[in-house]
Amino acid sequence: MALDTMQELFLNELKDVYNAEKQLVRALPRLAKAAQSPQLQKALTKHLRETEGQVTRLERIFRGLDQTPRGKKCKGMEGLIEEGKEILEEEGAPEVIDAAIISAAQRVEHYEIAAYGCLRAYAQLLGNSEADRLLQETLAEEEAADETLTTLAEGGINQAAVAAGARDEE
Ligand code: FE
Ligand code: ZN
Ligand code: FE
Repeated sequence: MALDTMQELFLNELKDVYNAEKQLVRALPRLAKAAQSPQLQKALTKHLRETEGQVTRLERIFRGLDQTPRGKKCKGMEGLIEEGKEILEEEGAPEVIDAAIISAAQRVEHYEIAAYGCLRAYAQLLGNSEADRLLQETLAEEEAADETLTTLAEGGINQAAVAAGARDEE
């Protein structure tokens, strides 16, 4: 697809993030299942539900543009999820694995925050206030998910991982 106009760039990036969100809907349950901390499991499961809603929001934006919702393989998300899977294949202390899951999940959230920030800016430039509103709702969820992960890491999970390492060395 040619990128001659901002409208085309907007559509192109919508397709990318639509595919990215759908990849995440498949990947988040695995991450949640691998987490030991109940709070981390809960946060990942909550964000799975939100992610499903984000897919629906993107479909509304496509329809508002008279486009059939269609994704375009997001290689960035594919790579981030691939790295997440590598963590799940590792043996190790569950507390350290939890810290690693948070790190992987935060990379995903930051990637999405960048994508939605750009999409919102394009929607505004293009005068598409409906898309801007929907994208902002999703962006707020991504930012909140990221903050929850930071709170969990700082609120005990990283500390538990340090303790697990000390235990391992005894
Ligand atoms: Fe998302
Ligand atoms: Zn992408
Ligand atoms: Fe997200």
